[in-house]
Amino acid sequence: MNAWHGTMTKGGIFSVKSAYKVQMEDNRRRSVRGVQGTSAGSSLQKEHWAGIWAMNCPGKIKHFIWRLAHNSLAVRMNLERRGMELDTRCVMCNRLNEDSAHLLFKCKFAKHLCWELGLEEKRQHLSELQNAEETIKVLLKMEKRDQIYVCVTLYQWWRERNNVREGERRKSPAEVAFIIQAQAEEFLKNPELPVHASREGVEHWKRPAEDVLKINSDGSFNPNTGAGGWGAVIRNSMGQVVKAGAGHIHHALDAFHTEVIAALEGVKMAEMAGMTNVVLETDAILLKYALVNNSFRLSSVGGLIHEIKAIADACFSSFSCCHCNRGCNQVAHAFADIGCNGPRGTIQYWESPPIGVDVLMASDCAVSTV
Ligand SMILES: [Zn+2]
Repeated sequence: MNAWHGTMTKGGIFSVKSAYKVQMEDNRRRSVRGVQGTSAGSSLQKEHWAGIWAMNCPGKIKHFIWRLAHNSLAVRMNLERRGMELDTRCVMCNRLNEDSAHLLFKCKFAKHLCWELGLEEKRQHLSELQNAEETIKVLLKMEKRDQIYVCVTLYQWWRERNNVREGERRKSPAEVAFIIQAQAEEFLKNPELPVHASREGVEHWKRPAEDVLKINSDGSFNPNTGAGGWGAVIRNSMGQVVKAGAGHIHHALDAFHTEVIAALEGVKMAEMAGMTNVVLETDAILLKYALVNNSFRLSSVGGLIHEIKAIADACFSSFSCCHCNRGCNQVAHAFADIGCNGPRGTIQYWESPPIGVDVLMASDCAVSTV
């Protein structure tokens, strides 16, 4: 049985569809070579696979848990074992070696998050286990609600760690906990979640339905200067620009603050143009959850969130907010850059796309179907 710091499964990055097949093939090869992987081991893996696959959450979370189960997450100790030369300290605390057990269960920042979520007891139990195999067994035996919460927590914590590694702003434990809560509750409410569907898997911008206008908004933040920008673009079902805007933000609290300002400016533009059926699309998942939940308590931007909701309630006959990946939000991102680089205090509006952004807009339309 592999200890957390022991040998790692071969492979590394699996696609959701092929993960199981690759693992089985790997086992078969190992057992042929007589290294590891007995028939008992393989039936245990089948059982784990079935258990993980039956969980009521999107494929990418299952895939993440599957990789955790085989200790093949790209944590720094695993990368070092693959022969990479790197600093093996934990991305989050910068103190201890980063293996899966440390990052997910023992790191002081993981502890903060679990306190925030009321999962401290679960975390403690999981942190005492010796290896991935035991961890997955305990996880699969949990009551459904706990299981979803723990899986979403581990997954979001992993994402947060990756974002921090990429140099993004570190979210507070309350912010990460808010995302986890919203997402876990969403999965618990939708028992019929399609097995293979990825809820955030849209790769390209999509045109809105016929009588709907779509706002894409994005914020940009420079942590060195504390300044930022916002960008928003409203398009119709033909993919044509109805209105676009960009502005400079002199004092931003953080990246999320600029995201919220961008959404608010987008909603205001839609309101001024007298629009009725409006969809707001953002790549900031925290913003989406803040707008669909009433429990938002992140006070620094709470007033702005409230303002967006108030405008939407008063002025639109329908309003929804959806989350997209960054690829779908490239036009809004370009406007946010224009805003960020513009002179202090300026706001610009367009009725047709400016040069530079028009190319991105055309590429959105080229790949988009309703
Ligand atoms: Zn740590």
